[in-house]
Amino acid sequence: MTIETSIGLGTGQPYPYQRVELVEPDWTRFPGWKDVTAEEWASVQWQRAHCIKNVKQLRELMGDLLDERFYADLERDQAERATMSMLVPPQMMNTMAPQEPPAGPGSLTDAFYADPVRHYMIPVFSDRRTDFPSHPHATRDSLHEHDMWATEGLTHRYPTKVLAELLPTCPQYCGHCTRMDLVGNSTAVIDKLKFVGKPNDRLGDMLDYLRRSPGVRDVVVSGGDVANMPWPRLEAFLTELLEIENIRDIRLATKALMALPQHWLQPEVVEGMTRVGSIARARGVSIAVHTHVNHANSVTPLVAEATRAMLDTGIRDVRNQGVILNGVNADPHALLDLCFRLLDGAQIMPYYFYMCDMIPFSEHWRISVADAQRLQHAIMGYLPGFATPRIVCDVPFVGKRWVHQLASYDLERGISHWTKNYRTSIEATDPEALSRTYEYYDPIHTLPADGQAWWAEHASLDESALKAAEMAEASRRTAALQAH
Ligand code: SF4
Repeated sequence: MTIETSIGLGTGQPYPYQRVELVEPDWTRFPGWKDVTAEEWASVQWQRAHCIKNVKQLRELMGDLLDERFYADLERDQAERATMSMLVPPQMMNTMAPQEPPAGPGSLTDAFYADPVRHYMIPVFSDRRTDFPSHPHATRDSLHEHDMWATEGLTHRYPTKVLAELLPTCPQYCGHCTRMDLVGNSTAVIDKLKFVGKPNDRLGDMLDYLRRSPGVRDVVVSGGDVANMPWPRLEAFLTELLEIENIRDIRLATKALMALPQHWLQPEVVEGMTRVGSIARARGVSIAVHTHVNHANSVTPLVAEATRAMLDTGIRDVRNQGVILNGVNADPHALLDLCFRLLDGAQIMPYYFYMCDMIPFSEHWRISVADAQRLQHAIMGYLPGFATPRIVCDVPFVGKRWVHQLASYDLERGISHWTKNYRTSIEATDPEALSRTYEYYDPIHTLPADGQAWWAEHASLDESALKAAEMAEASRRTAALQAH
């Protein structure tokens, strides 16, 4: 192939690939950090101590670069809508409006309103929908993880894998968090569920369950975010996990690899991961880090450095599981920019993009299954096959399904039906578990007028909501019986 031909192939394509060098935006552009040194920035203690946790701290950082209307919009959201409390590490804050030079009072307001990272980390009231702010089927624990707890915090949903929620906190809180029922501090509108057991007892119960469950081979070690667990305790848990013969895959879930890479660059953590990685290799177990990056702007040189440090410990891989969100990344260019930035810049494997789950007040972020299918189609063919992420819908009571896998789809009412090929832990004796269809619901504002009118009329009467509530109640009873 001649050079001319390859240039010809590159032009006129729907997505024009271009390699982009990573850049750490200049944090001193924000008035509150004008004197912060590179040493301070690299310090995980400094980062944690200077997280933005409330409107007052945002004002101190930004001064008058944001108009009063932005602060008022944020305050109203926190009082009436927010399901997650505010917690943004400086590293992430610095990726908001990264190209916009401050130019006097109010000069960053428009850029902040438009910014993709701000959209999901600092949601404001005017972002959200006022027609249907929540879908009638939205629930606090939309994936029913709690219903499927085998021990407190250990969700056994799939036949061979489990999710271990080690702790209910993260170094950063995402507005759209699917675990909003459990993770983070209570907000004005959401009182959070609390773990009852003592942390060590809970972890011990999880390990005991895995020892007596030879059919489980794969553990997602999550939270929250494992970066919030003191390293010695996390290493002890991983070491015990590695002693269980049936466990062959371990994935550590941490958005902090991107939001607080300084954590993963600490010598204590790098040395500890090297020890864990070497035990895993000796036992033939795959251990990988899974992170959560939603926009290309979040991939900076520090993120690449932390990823390199993790890969150098000998772990199998670092992979990304993002969430598709309107206003953040719900278009093919934004998704491909992100995938290439991850792959070229940081050697992070694009792996999954989840559709945003049906939690309260998430309708402005969610997209329809039909749009997710279009996105999947649009991103095919640009990335290597092994790095082409699957876009998945996490269907309640089912689990992850690739968005083209639905059994039927009522486009007018936005109801898709899905089947499954395994029983969750709460369906051992359910004869219809494998023949039943399960529903997922598109955001109502994306539906044609007749569909919207139908929902306006039937929202509170729908049978599926009752069925879901009954199933959840039954599973709680089962879990309570198992616990005694
Ligand atoms: S990092 Fe994950 S668990 Fe933590 S708030 Fe964000 S989405 Fe939720």
